[in-house]
Amino acid sequence: MDLYYTSTRDRREHVTASAAILQGLSKDGGLFVPESIPRLTLPIEAWTKLSYQELSYEVMKLFLTDFTEDELKTCIARAYDDKFDTAEIAPLKKAGGVSYLELFHGATIAFKDMALSILPHLMICAAKKNRVEREIVILTATSGDTGKAALAGFADVTGTRIIVFYPKDGVSPIQKQQMVTQRGANTLVVGIEGNFDQAQTGVKQMFADNSLAEAMAANGFQFSSANSINIGRLVPQVVYYVYAYAGMVKANEIKAGEPLHVVVPTGNFGNILAASYAKQMGVPIGKLICASNENKVLFDFFRTGTYDRNRAFILTSSPSMDILISSNLERLIYQLAGQDAAANRRLMEELNACGSYQISDAMREGLRDFYGNYASEAETAATIRRVYEMDGYVIDPHTAVAACVYEKYKKESRDDTKTVIASTASPYKFTRSVMTAIDGHSDVMSDFALVDELAKRSQTNVPKAIEEIREAEVLHHQVCAASDMKKTVEAFLGIA
Ligand SMILES: *Cc1c(COP(=O)(O)O)cnc(C)c1O
Repeated sequence: MDLYYTSTRDRREHVTASAAILQGLSKDGGLFVPESIPRLTLPIEAWTKLSYQELSYEVMKLFLTDFTEDELKTCIARAYDDKFDTAEIAPLKKAGGVSYLELFHGATIAFKDMALSILPHLMICAAKKNRVEREIVILTATSGDTGKAALAGFADVTGTRIIVFYPKDGVSPIQKQQMVTQRGANTLVVGIEGNFDQAQTGVKQMFADNSLAEAMAANGFQFSSANSINIGRLVPQVVYYVYAYAGMVKANEIKAGEPLHVVVPTGNFGNILAASYAKQMGVPIGKLICASNENKVLFDFFRTGTYDRNRAFILTSSPSMDILISSNLERLIYQLAGQDAAANRRLMEELNACGSYQISDAMREGLRDFYGNYASEAETAATIRRVYEMDGYVIDPHTAVAACVYEKYKKESRDDTKTVIASTASPYKFTRSVMTAIDGHSDVMSDFALVDELAKRSQTNVPKAIEEIREAEVLHHQVCAASDMKKTVEAFLGIA
């Protein structure tokens, strides 16, 4: 059966998966959502026999129905290959009575690779299908990890250009080094004088700017997005929750059909939404535990039913979660409103105008499956230390936020249902925070010296992604004001 996509803000929108991937964001400013969530047809026992790639196909074919079997399998084979340093792609590691789903074995050692290694292939395929002749310009705002993962995916891909804006002082030194050393004639990396929300807002404004779109079209360009608002980012993320469940069954941690909780360190709400989609597809997921850092907008939302971004933006040791506007939450709000695009639209307009909105009690009922909490900076560091001291296992600050919130959940609920924590980044990306948490004596060493220290302590090998950038030449020096993002794009494309 063919599955179409509609907009969270206009129910008349009705497009194919490939068109939704190409467009990124709907014209009305809404996000594309599947008109219904497909159900998994294979029984659980069958999942356990499939490789990551095979399972990807079984899940993605249900969402991307206008891609042929051959197209989809080719995209999958090109994405999940030896760019990943393990054939399992997303292995489970047990430490301290809980399982960690390691999503950081790809090219840029963060979970964004799970989706961004396949998105360029899906997009090129979608462009062919829709007879797009123009060059596709990927425009992306990053809180640190998306930028590099998107750059790695799109660098030197014929028919595309990629522009990445990152908050100049809001990413880790290693994240920054990863981006500014990016090769590829079609790449542009720019620091902005502002935070991630400003970068994201600037990008959204450009997407909604009709005169810019016209100028682009006249010069043979069109925008698309590699941010998690793109449905082509969300769908590949559903896969690893199915895979994790299968892995837990295979490891005899759970029986097929038994509930499994998942804990997700959350920023833009893409990853946990994918878990929610997996649950709706029929994966026996129990609680969806949403972990925030000190930017705890989502915790407050789950507690009160009011989403309120009017607060100070806090820079934390988990920068990829330093977000006050969780874009993908809109997809959940739309569902909670009974797929009522007009109702969702009103809430989003309120968010735009006043920075907050409140959902009804009926809508709050739909949040039963979610549990939200947050970890302070001190708690995050203490969690890294505790897990290391107990098991010799080193986790990054984002994963530590999740591990800490899971402890809070267990304490409150006394629920010992088997649980998987999404481990979203390699600790090697955040060596300073990690080593400071572990031994507190890291302030005099450089981030790269700390890499070697971490390798010794954790008895793991330094990932290739880190070795590659140690000595690499900085190729991108540009910095601009948040208000000059559009000018920067026009200059790069030569359409000023
Ligand atoms: C992006 C990111 C997150 C947050 O994921 P969302 O899908 O934005 O909620 C968490 N941890 C790391 C390491 C990330 O890169």
